[in-house]
Amino acid sequence: MEYFKNLINGEWKDSKSGKYSENRNPADKEDLIGYFPSSTPEDVEEAVKAAKEAFKKWRLIPAPKRGDVLKIVGDIMLQKKDEIAFEMTREMGKVFAETKGDTQEGIDTAYYAASEGRRLFGLNAPSELPNKMNLSFRVPIGVGGIITPWNFPMAIPTWKIFPALVCGNTVVFKPAELTPKTANTFVKIVDQAMREVLGKDYIPGVINLIHGSGRVVGECFLANKDIDFISFTGSTEVGRRINEVGGRELKRVSLELGGKNAQIVMDDANLELALDAVLWGAFGTTGQRCTATSRLILHKNIHDKFLKMLTERVSKLKLGYGNNKGVDVGPCVSESQRETVNNYVQIGLKEDKATLIAGGDYAKDGELAKGWFYKPTIFKDVTPEMRIAKEEIFGPVLSVLKCSSLEEGVAILNNTVYGLSSSIFTNNVNDAFMAVRDIQAGITYINGATIGAEAHMPFGGVKATGNGHREGGWTVYDFYSEWKAVYIDYSGKLQRAQIDNY
Ligand code: NAD
Repeated sequence: MEYFKNLINGEWKDSKSGKYSENRNPADKEDLIGYFPSSTPEDVEEAVKAAKEAFKKWRLIPAPKRGDVLKIVGDIMLQKKDEIAFEMTREMGKVFAETKGDTQEGIDTAYYAASEGRRLFGLNAPSELPNKMNLSFRVPIGVGGIITPWNFPMAIPTWKIFPALVCGNTVVFKPAELTPKTANTFVKIVDQAMREVLGKDYIPGVINLIHGSGRVVGECFLANKDIDFISFTGSTEVGRRINEVGGRELKRVSLELGGKNAQIVMDDANLELALDAVLWGAFGTTGQRCTATSRLILHKNIHDKFLKMLTERVSKLKLGYGNNKGVDVGPCVSESQRETVNNYVQIGLKEDKATLIAGGDYAKDGELAKGWFYKPTIFKDVTPEMRIAKEEIFGPVLSVLKCSSLEEGVAILNNTVYGLSSSIFTNNVNDAFMAVRDIQAGITYINGATIGAEAHMPFGGVKATGNGHREGGWTVYDFYSEWKAVYIDYSGKLQRAQIDNY
């Protein structure tokens, strides 16, 4: 059985703790994947030191050359796409087609970042004084602490680390405890590309990997004075803590947090299309996406008909190991995640008026007994104030609510602390545009599921889903760089702005 290591200063090393935690396949708890270091504060200290030292050289590498590294990263990921996806499914459970998609998102992000190395545009503005020139351009920040969740173990680290690197920063990466193997594969690829592109000028410590818990390793990131910025994706609870401590230390902090996304279906919608979308949105990745469809808001005129169509299709979803052909839905990522899901189902059963119409229990038949499977679950008659209508569940549970108008549907959709993704199915162009205007979410789909963001578009949410930053596309480069303003005075005299000219 393989014992994995941390990457610090270009060297694969054991943790100073000498301790490991095991990683198992959530579809088959007998399948042991490997042992991963339980790292210590000293390991973090060493990695941050290496990243700080590497920053001195990496920031001077021309940005197009830094982009060349990411081009090679994308090429290697493309070559290994199926292998990465297979191991990712084994590690966290979602089906092979989805882990291939997760990997592809990383490839797209690599190529986008590679080309950004040749842009990273600055802006010029005229000076208010004669014979003077004003320029502004992006400069790197320093060392970044990258903390990621388990549900997109490849895409999310790439969203953060590629723009960070191309901007000239160095990073220390702490992946989720549940997906350390994908993180290992990813960092190996980045390190390999660094060595290939930089050759004898290879700089150790540009990317460092520290496995371990949030409580130990993650907390050390917050406390470390040499970490200049933290990019975090995960739960709102942990995000708040990072924002509090990071804020006190004046660290730059980007937070991508929870969601409670809804799909509205109006009475003029294409119901077959809306049905495909809600099945994909609610039960894809076993409902464990920050953008998963957790609420379905049906117009009263199609409510009963749509629910009948939905329950029929849900009963046909095939659960199983995601690397097997024909499987639609994998397991929950862990026993404790499955318990959280089941607890919410119990809350739903106790909540006034909510009626269970599908699932509501562990799935334990035959091979399913080996893993953390839960039956795709639907509650109807849910009202906006119920906990299952407002709180993030992060599992295969869909709460169905009823509305009588577009205004009511949008009000129900907005009735949550979160604001990540949203969707409306309608063929009425006026309703569609009003929904775009009035829905409080970072992402709105018209006639599409709540999941399916593209790597070159801004990704993130409003309200308790984050702190105003975005990942993806061009917007993310604002987080990973500072603006520097430069004034060049070629008048040969001291010119005082605001004073000599007014
Ligand atoms: P989590 O918050 O438990 O963990 C996320 C990461 O934070 C892990 O690496 C964990 O080890 C680390 N961590 C935990 N405690 C920490 C601490 N005190 N200090 C520093 N780091 C700490 O979340 P999770 O269970 O891995 O992921 C599920 C959550 O992530 C859901 O709420 C989901 O909505 C959210 N998520 C959001 C997005 C988005 O883009 N908005 C994307 C995916 C997942």
